[in-house]
Amino acid sequence: MLSRTDNQLVDPYGRRIEYVRLSVTDRCNYRCFYCLPKGFKDFEEPAHWLTFAEIERVMSAFAELGVARIRLTGGEPLVRKNLPQLVKGLASLPGVDDLSLSTNASLLARDAHDLKDAGISRINVSLDTLNADRFRDITGGGELVAVLDGLRTARDAELNPIKINMVAMKGVNDDEFDDMLEFCMENEFTLRFIETMPMGVPGQSARDSYLELDGVLETLHDKYELIPSCMPGGGPARYYKVAGSDTRIGLITPISRHFCETCNRVRMTVDGTLYLCLGQEHSYPLRPLLRSGISNEGLKDAIIEALALKPERHEFREKPDQVIRCMSLTGG
Ligand code: SAM
Repeated sequence: MLSRTDNQLVDPYGRRIEYVRLSVTDRCNYRCFYCLPKGFKDFEEPAHWLTFAEIERVMSAFAELGVARIRLTGGEPLVRKNLPQLVKGLASLPGVDDLSLSTNASLLARDAHDLKDAGISRINVSLDTLNADRFRDITGGGELVAVLDGLRTARDAELNPIKINMVAMKGVNDDEFDDMLEFCMENEFTLRFIETMPMGVPGQSARDSYLELDGVLETLHDKYELIPSCMPGGGPARYYKVAGSDTRIGLITPISRHFCETCNRVRMTVDGTLYLCLGQEHSYPLRPLLRSGISNEGLKDAIIEALALKPERHEFREKPDQVIRCMSLTGG
């Protein structure tokens, strides 16, 4: 168990926690069917959103406990007003040396340069298809051109690396893996495939469109020579390099080969709730403490107490029809 003087967070299973995924909003301008149900209205009320000052306070406490990496996510993080201002504050925290962002890129043409100047070094962009009609269907009305524009601006702003996250879905985009890889090779993006998790609409989609990524890899092997590789900051993905290029493919396989034993992260939602596991309910509310004037030392004690709740693993495979929370609310 962690002692109060250690500058490290270690969970009950001996895993060192050095990474926070920070959801700055639960709202999104898209409605990807596997992430946020159409017509969903139960968003957090603004009075419950942590302010930038509150977020910085919590992240500063994490940094003092050895967290060096923060990823801004959501919802769609760029729909939160003045995001670059928050990034600037987080970038100035001693101990934080890696600030990254997950985005759908639809608003990146507006913000990429400001985010880079504020301290975002690298980004992950969700992109499941290169077909404009299909894109509208998957995202509930999104425009592919806006995303492509955002990606171009991100490259101009020298956000690097840019990783494309493609949720691989049977009957939805399984005819596009080659095209997406060619697109990434042309643009020097990394391509990561993700297995669909049961985090969207209860009883729908996750199981129907689930594709095991080992099969996807085999198909790609027919056409490309893929060499096992790795990537700094690559997280739980297994990487392969496409021979003769600098392009890497990553496989994120939470269902077919979970990686919980190496989990190094916790998540904080916009209302200041810590979630200790993407697929379990264990949580710890920090907002009431922040708003009742807790000291910095008290805040660090609370984080340590929360860490003790971290479960060993998720059970997506055992309970494929159980949706505990939508991805978009947790901060995927
Ligand atoms: N809006 C941002 C974005 O588009 O990247 C950040 C939040 S989004 C929830 C983060 C990632 O989670 C995206 O790459 C998305 O495709 C992925 N995701 C959402 N629901 C998922 C699910 N049910 N299974 C697998 N991945 C999912």
